[in-house]
Amino acid sequence: MKKLKAKLRWTIVVMAVGFAVCGAGPLVTALAGERVIQARQRDAQAVESAGQASEPARKAVESAGPLIGQAGQAAEETTAAQAPQHAQQVKRLLIKDAMVIYGNGEPPFGPANISIEDGLIARVGRVPRDWTPDAVIDASGKYVMPGIINGHIHLQDERAGIPQPIQYELNLYLAAGATTIRDVGSDWTKAKEWRAQSASHKLVASRLVLYERIWASKGAHTAELIRQGVRYAKEQGVDGLKLFGMDRDLAEALMDEAKKQGLRTAVHIAVDETTARDWAELGVTSIEHFYGVADAALDGIQNFPPEHNANNEIHRFGRAGELYVQPNLNREKLSAVLDLMVRNKVFWCPTLSIYVASRDLIRAQNQPWFKDYLHPTLEEYFLPDLQHHGSYFLGWTNTQEVRWKKNYQVWMDALKEFDLKGGLITVGDDAGFIYQIYGFGQVHELELLEEAGFHPLEVIKMATVNGAKLLGLEDKLGRVRQGFIADLLVVNGNPVENLRLLNPYGTDVFTYDGKAINNYSPIMPGDPKVKVERGGGIEWTIKEGIPYHVPTLMKEVKAMVSEARAMRTKK
Ligand SMILES: [Zn+2]
Repeated sequence: MKKLKAKLRWTIVVMAVGFAVCGAGPLVTALAGERVIQARQRDAQAVESAGQASEPARKAVESAGPLIGQAGQAAEETTAAQAPQHAQQVKRLLIKDAMVIYGNGEPPFGPANISIEDGLIARVGRVPRDWTPDAVIDASGKYVMPGIINGHIHLQDERAGIPQPIQYELNLYLAAGATTIRDVGSDWTKAKEWRAQSASHKLVASRLVLYERIWASKGAHTAELIRQGVRYAKEQGVDGLKLFGMDRDLAEALMDEAKKQGLRTAVHIAVDETTARDWAELGVTSIEHFYGVADAALDGIQNFPPEHNANNEIHRFGRAGELYVQPNLNREKLSAVLDLMVRNKVFWCPTLSIYVASRDLIRAQNQPWFKDYLHPTLEEYFLPDLQHHGSYFLGWTNTQEVRWKKNYQVWMDALKEFDLKGGLITVGDDAGFIYQIYGFGQVHELELLEEAGFHPLEVIKMATVNGAKLLGLEDKLGRVRQGFIADLLVVNGNPVENLRLLNPYGTDVFTYDGKAINNYSPIMPGDPKVKVERGGGIEWTIKEGIPYHVPTLMKEVKAMVSEARAMRTKK
């Protein structure tokens, strides 16, 4: 999200710490390529261990009765002696009898066993006889998929100057299955410290990858100052650069220096001289949101009325929602821009979920998880107030919503076209603004990508394999593959059947006689054994082999929220 009044408050603190690649910790570098096995071999092992590998995946869900444990409550069913401890490192961890979603769009397979040793996936398939696990997760009836790589987040320990514990956000992202999060703009000094703590497992957090704005700290109005700033950012240890729209000559200098320094880039294009065409030509790594793509497809410029003020967010967000439906949007030009992005390997991180309030405000303001999980700091920040970025809902009209709805249709079509041309879409939620809570926005992003026309397996690929490519970590992350970092999710149910199962709040599950079944099953109306229960959720988010128990994380979040609310009432 663009801060209109860019606060260049980055404090310069020199910490001579040479972090491992993207702050991913020593395991990343220790990873050995020779342990990687071929997909065929893996499948063969799975079949071997499964006995009945041809049994439909649905059967596994049908046997998932006991898994309807409430997301959001501690579930201590797993055998106490053998189950792992929340947030405790385990040398050898076994995930038993899981259906596996590999990550690259292949159909699920299993049941299979996944052996994890020293934070790496040691084997997928049969457990070697001489290999004894220190802890076991019984995943029968559950699905295991790679950890989600969230490509667009902001680390926030305050909103509008009011403190909010960083652990609130960190817990929520882990609970939503994000094992890696790419921060695209926050307090650099703090973020750097959190990245180090997360890498050394002293902080309960996803792996942090930091694309920051400190390149602008030298002053960014000349090419030379920008080059100095980029070099400074590199010295400081950023993983990449977060950019905003700027004039073409400055963008050229910046991109040239970023390439020299080997830094990846993420751009939020504003209504500016440069559009997606410029940034794609200059070889930016990723384009965030939708701005700049539609702008590059206009015959002429945006049709803003004379009183339009780009510093007024009602004007800015209201009319941003009209961009794709402007009469001078040229579909051929749009296709040409998408072609250029594909040719130059530009990722698109659309963050569809952060704008949905614009097309459906009442939904956005009444999400059921607000009751227990909305921190009062964030709640206050969301209230309509033009001083708060993204809180522009003052007298929001139906006409504005209708335009945004139509805008989404064209935007989603463009995403589909981009994918069909070979472009790579990634998942990001940009939460902490516009009624989106961290992680909850991420699951909605997956839902919206399905709405854009993608199969849930393709959506999962965007959240895993594509995310790893975005960060240049595709040889270590994003797949349930031997030798890869053990970033895995143990999901209560099959997310390919319903992406909503990945919501940390859980979701409605159709049950018969206490067992979850597909809601298209031939059930007679009036059958008393039919119930709807809250189920789903991720049971364990495993980051670098460390298991985090999601119901425990959510319990902690709930406690943080009630405590903050109680403090407020006292005042
Ligand atoms: Zn953002």
